[in-house]
Amino acid sequence: MPVPLQTATTRWRCTLCGNLTRFDVTRSTRVVEYVHLDLAGEPRVEEREVLSETVESVRCRWCNAADQVELVDRPGTGADSGGADEGDGPGRA
Ligand SMILES: [Zn+2]
Repeated sequence: MPVPLQTATTRWRCTLCGNLTRFDVTRSTRVVEYVHLDLAGEPRVEEREVLSETVESVRCRWCNAADQVELVDRPGTGADSGGADEGDGPGRA
């Protein structure tokens, strides 16, 4: 199942438990790195150009569901959704 990508105005939400903030993301990335080695041979990446990036899997940290995310609007991006229910944790019963 393809994973929807977050944008500047959207974020992930677990469709099963409502988690908005904690995910394990498996990502494959092709990059060109400018590796600068010092005289001792210690490498350091000074520039990194991302050629392509693919999110392969997103797993919810709360309920462990894989790829069960949907995109929802971020708070404060003009979406008129009330915005009173943003929270950083599971609801307490
Ligand atoms: Zn979840």
